[in-house]
Amino acid sequence: MSVRNPFCITKVEAWPIALPLLAPFVVATGQMDVARNIFVRVTLRNGAYGYGEMAPFPDISGEDQEGSLQAFPIAAKECLGQSATQFRKLSQRLGEVASFAPAVRCGIETALLDALCRGMGIPLWGLWGGADVRQRKTDVTLPIGPLDQIVETARAWHARGFRIFKMKVGHEVDEDIRRVEAVYAACPQATFVLDANQGFSLDQARECMGAMEQWHLPVLLFEQPVAREDLEGFVALRRRGTIPIAADESVRSLEDARRLIERRAVDVLNLKITKCGVVESMDIAGLARASGIRLMIGGMVESRVAMGCSWSLVLGLGGFEFLDLDMPLLLSVDPIQGGYGYEGPALQPWEECGLGMEMRQEPSSAIVVE
Ligand SMILES: [Mg+2]
Repeated sequence: MSVRNPFCITKVEAWPIALPLLAPFVVATGQMDVARNIFVRVTLRNGAYGYGEMAPFPDISGEDQEGSLQAFPIAAKECLGQSATQFRKLSQRLGEVASFAPAVRCGIETALLDALCRGMGIPLWGLWGGADVRQRKTDVTLPIGPLDQIVETARAWHARGFRIFKMKVGHEVDEDIRRVEAVYAACPQATFVLDANQGFSLDQARECMGAMEQWHLPVLLFEQPVAREDLEGFVALRRRGTIPIAADESVRSLEDARRLIERRAVDVLNLKITKCGVVESMDIAGLARASGIRLMIGGMVESRVAMGCSWSLVLGLGGFEFLDLDMPLLLSVDPIQGGYGYEGPALQPWEECGLGMEMRQEPSSAIVVE
């Protein structure tokens, strides 16, 4: 790499952060009270820098903060001296050296893309083509919990303008059905995305789906009803029902996406940059669109850094139908300033360079690779 290349990566830093949730985030496979994430900063030779976030969710992806911090230096060294303008090549390399740590790949990729766009003087969504730059509404997640409490929480979101509730199910099917019915009774304008996080057997998923149909509950999507490898279960549910089926845990790579599409196992793919990085997520989006598969985008428990990068894909690539970009609203802290904002359920585009964000606080210590 030429010593004069202004986009050459000269420094990569990472530091752990703790993001407490407003309420425990309970899903079929586990629970989280505090997101133990990691912020990343990449600096270029021209002085431009950018931020990224690793959001490992132990009960969903098996990754955690400690493991991610251990994998970070190995991945970061691959980027030193390389040009951020070759981010596709770097993404592939990170996918190879950190194949066991996709959150690490995601965090470094996001930071080098943010730095590149700051260096170029364009917002991150501009790098993807600015196909659909307008405000968009997100759903809001209602975790598994006691019925009264969930209904009260739903009412509060409803009063703030939220109309799409992403209900976590997959725990106990009768209770799950009762919870959806109760929220609908309290918020009759609501529509629903059900997310079982692999928690149901095929029979339970059928029962849940049947109840939604029987009671005419407006369910837009049934996400990850069964185990990630149970593609036959997906196929059977698709054949049976009128509710579109979405894959989340079952799509963690381009290869997974290809398999799901070939088997005609899904109507919708839920992309998350933490599962396979930014570039591979874009490749999955391209494959899905070419194959007539509808697109959803979501995230792990994460701040506006990772979610801002996902939002940039919505604005830049276009074609995303379902937005599940509510996580920063469920945190009790916002560790950054600037960048995109929320007005009720609507995410606003931003005009500043890169992600347009700054840290509220400098880290007291960081792992530095330079
Ligand atoms: Mg999900």
